[in-house]
Amino acid sequence: MARILYGKEFAARIKASAEHGAIALRAHGVNPCLAVIIVGNDPASEVYVRNKEKACAELGIRSNHIPLPAETTREELLACIDELNADEEVHGILVQLPLPAPLSESSEEVLSRIDPRKDVDGFHPVSVGHLFLGTPGLRPCTPAGCIRMLEYAGIRMEGAHAVIIGRSNIVGKPMAMLLLERHATVTLCHSRTENLAAITREADILVAAVGQPHFVTADMVKPGATVIDVGINRIAPKKLVGDVDFEAVEKVAGAITPVPGGVGLLTVAMLMENVVQAAKAQTEAKGE
Ligand code: NDP
Repeated sequence: MARILYGKEFAARIKASAEHGAIALRAHGVNPCLAVIIVGNDPASEVYVRNKEKACAELGIRSNHIPLPAETTREELLACIDELNADEEVHGILVQLPLPAPLSESSEEVLSRIDPRKDVDGFHPVSVGHLFLGTPGLRPCTPAGCIRMLEYAGIRMEGAHAVIIGRSNIVGKPMAMLLLERHATVTLCHSRTENLAAITREADILVAAVGQPHFVTADMVKPGATVIDVGINRIAPKKLVGDVDFEAVEKVAGAITPVPGGVGLLTVAMLMENVVQAAKAQTEAKGE
């Protein structure tokens, strides 16, 4: 049976590191602060935002919750971001996605309006550029959290063959860059990949970020592989499952993350770490 990589254990370590950083900043009179803009009232987004606020409260990070009505215009949202960009007391800005229509058409423009120094989601083109170049910058929380978990769990990345299913800008692509930075040999798969199972069976580390319940079956996994399930799929009002057929794959894999209780917890913890990192970098830049 595989080792279960519970998100709680690793998230606690990431949060402890963030808390440590927040304490050091407060000792210098800087109170790290995250502003979260949520437009409309999508129930799933409200849950995510509440989780982020809870994590902030837990670590003594200030959170500034900005709920905007679903009818908010593009200009109003951009003006709100401009105000937060100019506010020196705000260190991180997050716009909860997805934005409601028709604002969703402006998502890229909205994310690009955030000051890259405050881009704690790591989605700004400048942050993406830093990730690509391997230069310091804020990294997207979900893949960065997965890397931290692999490090803490002592799972070898250097020289390992890492296969990622999914090439989105928020999970698949940044995960590939981060694994490459850790010297893994990376294969990125997607909906047009041929012979997917033959490729995934070669993986020492298999990351599933597809968005389809039970997509990864036991026959797709090499015995002893580490399987990271990023997927969150709601299959009933109160039932969440990942992209991996957990019960079957657990019998083959060497290590596996559960859903719920896996990667989702790492994402929020990593967001806290990014807020602290952003506050630190902004403070240092001011020469405080
Ligand atoms: P996207 O829908 O943006 O991307 C899904 C990817 O899966 C695409 O690249 C797509 O390929 C690929 N794909 C779809 N079908 C197949 C197939 N049959 N074979 C191979 N590849 C396929 O999703 P996200 O990356 O945003 O999210 C993925 C999952 O992770 C979702 O369940 C989401 O809810 C979850 N998630 C979880 C987070 C967490 O904190 N745990 C955070 C973010 C996301 P193509 O590009 O060719 O269309």
